[in-house]
Amino acid sequence: MKDCIFCKIAAGELPCYKVYEDDKILAFLDIHPINKGHTLIIPKEHYESSLGTPDELLKYIVVVAKKIALAVMKTTGALGCNIGINNGEASGQLVFHTHWHVMPRFANDGYELWHGKDTAYSEGEMESLATQINGQLMAKA
Ligand code: AMP
Ligand code: ZN
Repeated sequence: MKDCIFCKIAAGELPCYKVYEDDKILAFLDIHPINKGHTLIIPKEHYESSLGTPDELLKYIVVVAKKIALAVMKTTGALGCNIGINNGEASGQLVFHTHWHVMPRFANDGYELWHGKDTAYSEGEMESLATQINGQLMAKA
């Protein structure tokens, strides 16, 4: 898509430090890594986010992501990794072309994901919410 930075990288119009490429996917180093080796995986075709990306392509990405995650960990000596996907502005998505983050992690590297905030449910709220979400899923099935 015109003006999409990741489409330009996929087309070779902007540079990247390539980690992996095939006919459907490109993976390259993130320019602002949380740790060295932080890699982005993108489909070459433009979709705004993973939630709008066809299932078949997502299935393909997850298998490649596993291989890339293992390679990143082996190369960097990471003890673990996060595979992250931001969907929408509220989630922190900045680039609106589907991409998965593979982030190598080390003990005490200073990053906290998700655990920083205490959100409490009121009495009965968990049951109600779970039932509503299940209702959405069943309506679409
Ligand atoms: P997100 O917040 O999930 O949309 O993440 C976008 C990511 O893309 C950020 O981590 C940026 O550092 C990264 N990024 C943006 N432009 C480039 C680029 N030209 N090459 C590599 N990574 C990039
Ligand atoms: Zn794009």
